[in-house]
Parts: sequence; C-alpha cells; structure tokens
Amino acid sequence: MLTGTVVNYHTHCKRQCWLFYHHINLEDNSEDVRIGRILHELKRQEKEEIALDGIKLDRVTGEYVTEIKKSDADLAAAMAQLEYYLIVLRDKGIERKGRLECLEKNRQSKSVHTLTLTDEQIEERKAQYRRIEEFLDSDSPPAPVLKRACKKCAYYEYCFV
Ligand code: SF4
Repeated sequence: MLTGTVVNYHTHCKRQCWLFYHHINLEDNSEDVRIGRILHELKRQEKEEIALDGIKLDRVTGEYVTEIKKSDADLAAAMAQLEYYLIVLRDKGIERKGRLECLEKNRQSKSVHTLTLTDEQIEERKAQYRRIEEFLDSDSPPAPVLKRACKKCAYYEYCFV
C-alpha cells in the first residue's frame, strides 16, 4: 500500500523508496533525522497530527491540509507527498488545498508553499501511483546513483561503503 512517505521517497530517490517500502530500515542518528524526530514529537504533543486510513496529516483546517517539513531541501518530494494526501482525502469527499511549511534549522523563519490540483493533474498522479506500485513489486532495488543528498541519507553506508 502506498503512503505519503513512499511517494516522497520515490520522487527523492527510487532506490530509497524501494528499500524503505521493503522494510530495509537502518537506524539514522544524523542531525537532520534527529531534528525531524523532535519536530514530529512536538506536533504529536500538540495533538495537531491526524492519522486517517494510513495517512498522517500534520494539520487540517477548513481550507488547507498542511504538511510541515524541517527543510526545503527536496521541495519536489515534499510537494509530491502533499499531493498524495490531497488526492486520498479528495477520494473520501474531503476537498482541501495543500500548504507546505518548511522550517529553517536554528531559525524562526519558515517558507510557505501552497498547492491546488486540477482534475487532469489528479488523473496524472493516480496513473503515476499505479506505476510506483508496479515498481515496488520488483524483486530488487535499482542501483545506487551518487548524488549530493546521499551523504545525509540513512542508506548511505548500505549503498556506497
Ligand atoms: S544513499 Fe543515495 S542512492 Fe542510496 S538510498 Fe540514499 S539517496 Fe538513494
């Protein structure tokens, strides 16, 4: 079953997506992951996070579904995740716009990005989700391709050492 995180990883790195989906989980205590965990815990304590049919939403108002990220390092992947949430909700009869808030490390500022999807875009994304499911059915992950983000990835040693 797809999740927002799987869709995010598929945009970020297809190998990471496959490894994560197949439960090849490696402990990552990097600074980025630690900050992510703290943010997650704070949201949980504030009781803003809403879980619904396998998707976890950071905040839902009458107008927006808001996803909060610790940085805008991969904006495309974060937006793909938010699109997935909007489409799952829409299929349940709940129509919202998307709002992505990216917090800046050690700062008070944040960048905000908003998102609406046309019917045509929704159909395109649904076709893409079917292709992701087919990709995840494959027996092995794609080969690693070194990129800048790899140094911060939990799978770095698994892929390259
Ligand atoms: S280390 Fe790089 S290639 Fe390997 S899973 Fe992470 S992002 Fe992908």
